[in-house]
Amino acid sequence: MPQFRLYDTMSRSVRPVETQEPEHLRFYCCGPTVYSYAHIGNFRTFLSADLVVRTAESLGWRVSYASNITDVGHLTEDDVADAGGEDKMERALRSKEGEAFANVWDLARHYADAFEEDWRLLNMRAPTVRPRATEHMREQIQAVEDLIKSGHAYETPTGVYFSVESFDGYGKLSGNKDQDTLMRAVRTVVQDDNKRHPADFALWKKDDKHLMQWFSPWGWGFPGWHIECSVMARQYLGDTIDLHAGGEDLVFPHHECEIAQSESCTGKAFSNHWMHVRFLQVEGEKMAKSKGNFFTVRQLIEEGHDPLAIRLALMGTPYGKPMNFTMQGLRDAGGILARIQEVERRAAKEAGTPGTEIQRIYDELLGAMCEDLNTSVAVAKMIEGIRSFLREDTLSAAQAGEARWFLDRIEQTLGMHGRTAEPTTAPEVPEINGVLITKWIEDRAEAKRAKDFARADDIRKQIEAAGFELRDTPQGTEWKRLAPGS
Ligand code: AMP
Ligand code: ZN
Repeated sequence: MPQFRLYDTMSRSVRPVETQEPEHLRFYCCGPTVYSYAHIGNFRTFLSADLVVRTAESLGWRVSYASNITDVGHLTEDDVADAGGEDKMERALRSKEGEAFANVWDLARHYADAFEEDWRLLNMRAPTVRPRATEHMREQIQAVEDLIKSGHAYETPTGVYFSVESFDGYGKLSGNKDQDTLMRAVRTVVQDDNKRHPADFALWKKDDKHLMQWFSPWGWGFPGWHIECSVMARQYLGDTIDLHAGGEDLVFPHHECEIAQSESCTGKAFSNHWMHVRFLQVEGEKMAKSKGNFFTVRQLIEEGHDPLAIRLALMGTPYGKPMNFTMQGLRDAGGILARIQEVERRAAKEAGTPGTEIQRIYDELLGAMCEDLNTSVAVAKMIEGIRSFLREDTLSAAQAGEARWFLDRIEQTLGMHGRTAEPTTAPEVPEINGVLITKWIEDRAEAKRAKDFARADDIRKQIEAAGFELRDTPQGTEWKRLAPGS
């Protein structure tokens, strides 16, 4: 088996991923803030995390994988230590899209559900646990109290702040260590004059006007954004984790602050390895709604792209390099997917023994993934293997068994497969719990019109649990039976 190596932001080198327990990876990836639909850039980061999980599993490891949902406390100016600006969730509620929601909780639930749906459509492994910030309030308050008791945090009239001077290692991840860079990094915007140092960051914000507030020893308020990850990583994975991931913008301040909080609480290293995903751009430009180059997964699916083609397109550039997403690249990925589907049609039901040639191709594919997730080489190897089953018009029984073996491998390691859902024109309309699926769909539309999104989501979940998939189109909602095993 090859050695699994990843670039580590802390040591600035490609290093083996070392697990504390043999062949058991404890992995945390910061999740989305659910104030709107996640875009394909966000999914580039989560997909890279998925590829870590799949590569580790391909090596025979077990993975304990926690990825959170931020449903409170992420402010528009969270790169400023004081955590200024507006809460992203509250601002979303006041926007045009926000009109569809009864309150901020409803909005959070809707976007969190949508996120999980996109996640499944992209064929990403479910995390072992997907904790939510709002469901871990007691633990966050406890951590802030502990930090005050141990002298790492203090209260002011506006909240509770972490004292960066109380923690020697502040700046070790980002390199923002000396006073000058630190001051620049926090943009020297100080809203609270009672802070001991301008870089001291918020653990708790006092605010009895905030739409989401909890009672704490410091009165009504809400937690700072960083504390949730420290608390949830510790609760589900232990004091020290093996690997921590997120997008490149999270190095500072988010991950720097997580380290300071966690290590001050436990006295132990927080994470032994740090992985950061470079940003995705679209057609050479930063994604922006105003530029019309801003894409969500559901938007691309509505335009007719297969979610697995989106997945493949997002893997085209290794995570450590900035990626340029193009419509041409997405169409090309669709072409490759069609070939995988053709091999799927030709493949046997049972995997056979791989010949030396296809074994070599897969070994090279896995080897590339183990070398800092080199997805461009791994995808090229996948295409090489797929092509080898399309050289002739038909496959022998042995080749068909080999094809199955290879398809199973690429599903495990790259999350790619060629199974297609059955066409929507099934002859009869099926029933779910004795009621026609079309009636369920009508009820769901009715619930949506009445803004009863809880009920609408509930109905969709029941339909999905019965083995069907829904697709909302401008002409109405379509259903189809999910292919067995998908
Ligand atoms: P957010 O929902 O803003 O907290 O972001 C969720 C994750 O997506 C974080 O890990 C971000 O670093 C990451 N992210 C945001 N924009 C991009 C992008 N354009 N490319 C890759 N990752 C991104
Ligand atoms: Zn985080």
